[in-house]
Amino acid sequence: MLVTESIDEIRNTVKLWRREKLSVGFVPTMGALHEGHLSLIRQAKQSADRVVVSIFVNPEQFGPNEDFDRYPRKLEEDLKLCRKARAAAVFRPEVSDMYPGDKYFEIKIRELGRHMCGASRPGFFEGIVLVVNKLLNIIEPDIAVFGQKDIQQYLILKQMVEEFNHGVKLEMGKIVRANDGLALSSRNTYLSNDERLKAPSLYRSLSYIEKQVREGVDTPSLLIEHQKNELEAKGFEIDYLGVFSMDNIEPVEKLENGRSYILAGAVYLGKTRLIDNILIEL
Ligand code: AMP
Repeated sequence: MLVTESIDEIRNTVKLWRREKLSVGFVPTMGALHEGHLSLIRQAKQSADRVVVSIFVNPEQFGPNEDFDRYPRKLEEDLKLCRKARAAAVFRPEVSDMYPGDKYFEIKIRELGRHMCGASRPGFFEGIVLVVNKLLNIIEPDIAVFGQKDIQQYLILKQMVEEFNHGVKLEMGKIVRANDGLALSSRNTYLSNDERLKAPSLYRSLSYIEKQVREGVDTPSLLIEHQKNELEAKGFEIDYLGVFSMDNIEPVEKLENGRSYILAGAVYLGKTRLIDNILIEL
């Protein structure tokens, strides 16, 4: 497995593969890899001959009061896991490789970034669009796999790829969960023992709402309020919990048959932000 921080080296490696008519898959990550990331690498291996994993904690997607400095960094363990998952290369640039000089352009996102995480983390998706745009230009993969865990990110990037004619096909990977239902996340390591025990309640609330919706509740706002109160009583601080339309990520009051929805939540347990979602096609 090639491990490089050099843009030229990863480009040249991918070019050599292309000359051999090998297809290329790509899985961008911020490292501190867990089984969720590995499932994306395995998925990419199903669709492509060679898989590149990037490990880059992207400063552009962190707000001034967020956890850029303390975000977990575990390169040696990550490389072992990538080898085990049979990645062909790991691209792990330094911040100075990705952002060497002044930036003269600014990205702005419209509809898809207004709600859910876009509402509470200004600049977050702009930072993601910036870095993924650069990574796709560097690697030029045939396919790239992103997790449903970050569904808004996936939908924004899908639009970006289409609107800017990137020649890559995006695939979505399922959410990998711990046995108690908590969606795996690099940030779960921030949780105290007590918080870790409480953390699966977010998924439980989402699952409860999902069940009611599938059984015919078409205006779930009261149900959602009730779940918010339950979570708050357990010590969660709610950022958002609600139903959003899959096509434009707008909040939805009344659900209709034949449409697709994102049932999503973001909460704080102490200082740790947890997100999760369930997709519902009615
Ligand atoms: P991150 O390292 O958190 O930026 O995540 C890198 C990729 O892994 C993103 O596409 C995430 O959506 C995906 N991912 C994160 N957590 C999970 C999970 N529990 N299951 C599946 N994919 C995940």
